[in-house]
Amino acid sequence: MRAALAEAEARPTDAAPLRAARDVLRRVFGHDDFRGLQAEVIAEVVGGRNALAVLPTGGGKSLCYQIPSLMRPGLGLVVSPLIALMTDQVAALVQSGVAAARLDSNIEPEARAETWRRIEAGELDVLYVSPEGLMQPWMLDRLGRIPLALIAIDEAHCVSQWGHDFRPEYRMLGRLADLFPGVPRLAVTATADARTREDIRAELRLTESAEFVASFARPELILSAERKRGGAEKRVIDLVAARPGRSGVVYAGSRDKTEKLAEALRGAGVPAVAYHAGLDKRLRETRLEAFLEADHAVMVATIAFGMGVDKPDVRFVIHADPPSSIEAYWQEIGRAGRDGEPAEGITLYGAADMAWALKRVAERDMDEAAKQVQARKVRQLYALLDGAGCRAATVRRYFGEEGVEPCGQCDLCLGTVETADATQAAQKALSAVHRLGGRFGRGRVVDHLLGKTKDPSDWEQGLSTWGIGQELSASQWKDLTEQLLFEGLLREDPNDGRPLVGLGDPEAVRAVFRGERTVAMRRHPEGEKAARGGKSGRKGREAMAVAASDQPLFEALRAWRAAEAKAQHVPPYVIFHDRTLAEIAAARPGGRAALARLNGVGEAKLAHYGEAVLEVVGSFAG
Ligand code: ADP
Ligand code: ZN
Repeated sequence: MRAALAEAEARPTDAAPLRAARDVLRRVFGHDDFRGLQAEVIAEVVGGRNALAVLPTGGGKSLCYQIPSLMRPGLGLVVSPLIALMTDQVAALVQSGVAAARLDSNIEPEARAETWRRIEAGELDVLYVSPEGLMQPWMLDRLGRIPLALIAIDEAHCVSQWGHDFRPEYRMLGRLADLFPGVPRLAVTATADARTREDIRAELRLTESAEFVASFARPELILSAERKRGGAEKRVIDLVAARPGRSGVVYAGSRDKTEKLAEALRGAGVPAVAYHAGLDKRLRETRLEAFLEADHAVMVATIAFGMGVDKPDVRFVIHADPPSSIEAYWQEIGRAGRDGEPAEGITLYGAADMAWALKRVAERDMDEAAKQVQARKVRQLYALLDGAGCRAATVRRYFGEEGVEPCGQCDLCLGTVETADATQAAQKALSAVHRLGGRFGRGRVVDHLLGKTKDPSDWEQGLSTWGIGQELSASQWKDLTEQLLFEGLLREDPNDGRPLVGLGDPEAVRAVFRGERTVAMRRHPEGEKAARGGKSGRKGREAMAVAASDQPLFEALRAWRAAEAKAQHVPPYVIFHDRTLAEIAAARPGGRAALARLNGVGEAKLAHYGEAVLEVVGSFAG
């Protein structure tokens, strides 16, 4: 039976298994209560049933399988696509006193043997494996002789070619249904539209299972996007420099660009490093570690960086080049603010990026239908970026949510974008492109409209569109041409880096000439004047709510944590999140019982760090 959302919500959430689950949540993880659909998903899996859960990034997907792994007899098996993700999760679980390990190609034979000993002695609660690792015959054989609590398939959208991150090795996981018939399987992902969800269910043999789809709302994310103008690199540097002392990720479209941007940022005094798949593996690991372990650092990366990096205190994600789809947008932006504190997602984009993306899709080795899906995904992304309606609401509707309200905090909700009617100007621009015969680039079209072409030929000066655009400035004409590209009224052929502009959809172009279709031009705030580009953080939405009087204690706790993390060689946030330290600084617990009541302080952490934390707090008592 496929449970609708409403049905799932109507289920009793205080039944005995859920009381037990809540008890584990409190004792082991130190959290007061479940979030979103966690309780429903956990109830399903604890009950021994399969499920598909789509929860937003930071929504707490991992607890959905970690808690049932602790509650059900046997080993909880977690399939995860990336070693970085496994490492992080295992480190965090171990800190919480859970017997967890991973088996992947990086594990030394001795450690591997020890892990198998623990598995076979029934000492391990959670085991992380890669899909290809798990599906090796000897591995399946060995695991087949061990009682399993569940099988969780993380980042399940990787199984679908309609998703945005297809990994063929995920397809093998469908066989798990036959191989482990009595073991509940849980597929989890943060981003999957309806079609991708259907595909996940079919591929992973979950057609009869309950589906839980949480809201895609991420109220902590403050979104904005702006068209690239000349000097896009400087713009990125200004945006980062305006956010000092915070961790952030800057995504760039090429390896070369990550290096250049990182260097320019360092030149501006920002602790930035580049990260991409072309770097030596060791170097990549060192840089990733440095980023994860730093309190503030900026990672300039290609999309090779990201999946499975769950540093909770990333305060901004800036796309120096746009993402590839709305799914990718939400996932990449979603790496900011995982701790639930306000964070920003800022995207720079241009019509040229769209043209390249469409060209790449056209050239991909896929069948026509799949290409059309991917091309539509590209267009939908640019409709979002260059659109006029609330960005967060557009994303949520894209994922199929209904009854969505505007977020009230993105640049479009705040109304920094004004529009003016530009139908007449659009007619002039379209005529000019038509008369010029699609043989020139954008700059030339603008020059032509202004009658400013250098050494114009008699032919060009003889055209009826020569110099007819005096009412707008060159930069306004540039904006308008860009707009016409986004609307499909113009089309750009990348032409190996020397793009040519031609007319777009003929029906739509005719409609503009007949005056049946109007063109509203966005008025963009000029460069530095852009309110959203300047100082970060709007009033009342500062990064972490720590009262000024608690700040010294908060900083002292962070210093203690940094030293502890360094000694153990783990990221600071697996010891305590900033939010927990902020709660400690505010509550100033006088003893262990008071400390234990705070969010994020479970039994193991109380035992390990209780004394040390109370000592830091005590040193501020006098
Ligand atoms: P994702 O869904 O992105 O994988 P995680 O499972 O990593 O999210 O959880 C994100 C963060 O939220 C983690 O730091 C986790 O400790 C925290 N978290 C998860 N569930 C709860 C909860 N019920 N109460 C408080 N914090 C939670
Ligand atoms: Zn909005």
